[in-house]
Amino acid sequence: MDATAVPGPGTSARGPGTEADPEIVADLAVVGAGPAGLYAASCAGFRGLSTVLVDALAEPGGQIAALYPEKRIYDVAGRAAVRGRELVGELVAQAAAFDPVWLLGRTATTLTPGDRGGWLVGLDDDGRGAPRAGRSSRAARIRAGAVLVTAGLGRPTPRSLPALRPFEGRGVAYHVPRLEEHRGRDVVVVGGGDSAVDWALALAPLAASVTVVHRRRAFRAHEYSVKQMYASGVRVLTDTQVTRLHGTDRVQQVTVEDRDGQVTVLPAQAVVAALGFATSLGPLAGWGLATEDRLIAVDRAMRTSLPGVYAAGDICTYEGRVPLISVGFGEAATAANHAAVALRPGARLAPEHSTDREPTPPAEPVAPHGPAAPTPEPSA
Ligand SMILES: Cc1cc2nc3c(=O)[nH]c(=O)nc-3n(C[C@H](O)[C@H](O)[C@H](O)COP(=O)(O)OP(=O)(O)OC[C@H]3O[C@@H](n4cnc5c(N)ncnc54)[C@H](O)[C@@H]3O)c2cc1C
Repeated sequence: MDATAVPGPGTSARGPGTEADPEIVADLAVVGAGPAGLYAASCAGFRGLSTVLVDALAEPGGQIAALYPEKRIYDVAGRAAVRGRELVGELVAQAAAFDPVWLLGRTATTLTPGDRGGWLVGLDDDGRGAPRAGRSSRAARIRAGAVLVTAGLGRPTPRSLPALRPFEGRGVAYHVPRLEEHRGRDVVVVGGGDSAVDWALALAPLAASVTVVHRRRAFRAHEYSVKQMYASGVRVLTDTQVTRLHGTDRVQQVTVEDRDGQVTVLPAQAVVAALGFATSLGPLAGWGLATEDRLIAVDRAMRTSLPGVYAAGDICTYEGRVPLISVGFGEAATAANHAAVALRPGARLAPEHSTDREPTPPAEPVAPHGPAAPTPEPSA
């Protein structure tokens, strides 16, 4: 397989993806717009590659945007503390400077060799929404010279409870994209892990009340956070399960029952179910990539077992890998630069220094798509 055959070096991503032209063409297809994929798009753009970014979720940012947009991250190089939402906003801006095509709310379903070399990435056909800024497409497939899989843990599917499902989207949510929405509300948080405790702590200062309901006695969350929660005024009900939700249009009350059969009805205009997420490779499992422990095996150039297909971030594995955002950034840079060399035989592996390039990319964050696109805010 000659992964360099199409499209040519520096080709601009093109193809409106209309019904008449269901194909979009790019040098590099990046599958997964989490931190690794977003950074890969800017590294690839820096090397002059045209890039298409695909993500199954309606907004970019991967686990950060989906699971902890309000949390502060303390271990990203060069940032003493950065809120998840702000980091995503800056990564989006960095990628957007190179004008990738954004395919958000689209799942990459198939990978097949292109008839003229390179790869065809098949997409689901339920593209949602229109971009607010940047380019998008309704294409049914991407024709790319190389593919970089940055699919993290796969599309996260929230774990739920039968009692919660009838009110999904009507007061029951699986994460908190914007804390402000809960100002003045009575909020019930269900779960006993880090997410549950963190959301409870974050909501406590602005909600009318916060009650954490956990079916076990002990919390799995960090000991320090649990201590903070008990000291914060949050009501904590352990050995207790949610049995029923009540309401008309939206949830209004939550019935819980403890191990001794004691029933309590809590006021609740919002229920945050922090019960974890099930993850799987999903359609990627059928792509014929060599895996280890259900992750994609890569070599030191982030090459997978298929020529012209790379992987980076939490989806990839090699001996000693550490699952951190910072590690994914390094892998994304390595993968994008190796892809650039594969697509442009004779090109140097080491990129020019970004400091030698003028003008510098615009720093303004760009909201590429959908109502929940990230907006930066200053970290405290
Ligand atoms: C609560 C929590 C706190 C964390 N705190 C930290 C921290 O403080 N510091 C740190 O370094 N790390 C932290 N992490 C881990 C960090 O978030 C991950 O290491 C990082 O998000 C991995 O980035 P990624 O880009 O590889 O994958 P992800 O962030 O998982 O993004 C992958 C993206 O790929 C998409 N995708 C998957 N399959 C497909 C498909 N077939 N088609 C289209 N799109 C697809 C998904 O929708 C997702 O958006 C934390 C994680 C959690 C859950």
